[in-house]
Amino acid sequence: MKLVLFGPPGVGKGSQARFLSEREGAVHISTGVLLRRAIRSETELGMEAKEYVESGMLVPGPLVRALAEDAVRATGFKGFVLDGYPRTIEQAEWLDAFLRENESQLDTVISLQVPAEVIIDRLSKRRVDRETGENYHLDFKPPPADLPADRIIQRKDDMPEAILHRLRIYDRDTHPVQDWYRQRGMLQEIDGRGTFEEVYGRIVGAIPTHGSTP
Ligand code: AMP
Repeated sequence: MKLVLFGPPGVGKGSQARFLSEREGAVHISTGVLLRRAIRSETELGMEAKEYVESGMLVPGPLVRALAEDAVRATGFKGFVLDGYPRTIEQAEWLDAFLRENESQLDTVISLQVPAEVIIDRLSKRRVDRETGENYHLDFKPPPADLPADRIIQRKDDMPEAILHRLRIYDRDTHPVQDWYRQRGMLQEIDGRGTFEEVYGRIVGAIPTHGSTP
């Protein structure tokens, strides 16, 4: 299974991508997770990316390109779910060329759609386990009571001003990527509202190769 899971921040694509990858034996590749890991480990890339990530801006394309391509290459081009990449048309073109050069291609691109007010609620109430990266929601999926409080953090880019910034960037830079894939007959739009299981069912139903080897 070779997928891009696409959608605005807070649409739930990270949790869906992680679950889907585990169930289907594919590798979940989240450029956001890779960047936050690099920032925590204070690698050169992490230092360069820190300010952008924390303020909700897009990290310069070439930095993310290398991260994403290395991660896809490491799967042997077998099974992966890309989450958060590509985020610009330029990145979509890079990915297309990279897969083509490696005689690979995406099965499909799934775009999760939810109204803006739902996104703002999800992001402002999102909390993260800083060790495992697991996401929680204060109302719907509160962090377990036995999880030490100092492990539960709110991402800096989930603060109100950064949320608005990220949504504006999404509309300006990332939303057009959908049209790019639609023109190529690769886009499937899925309703991202409802329970986790409902949305998961819709995603799985949209994967053309589902049921064959990953
Ligand atoms: P995410 O966890 O997907 O919401 O990503 C968190 C942040 O990482 C974004 O707000 C960007 O600053 C950065 N980021 C992740 N993926 C990309 C990408 N493909 N291009 C540029 N910046 C990215």
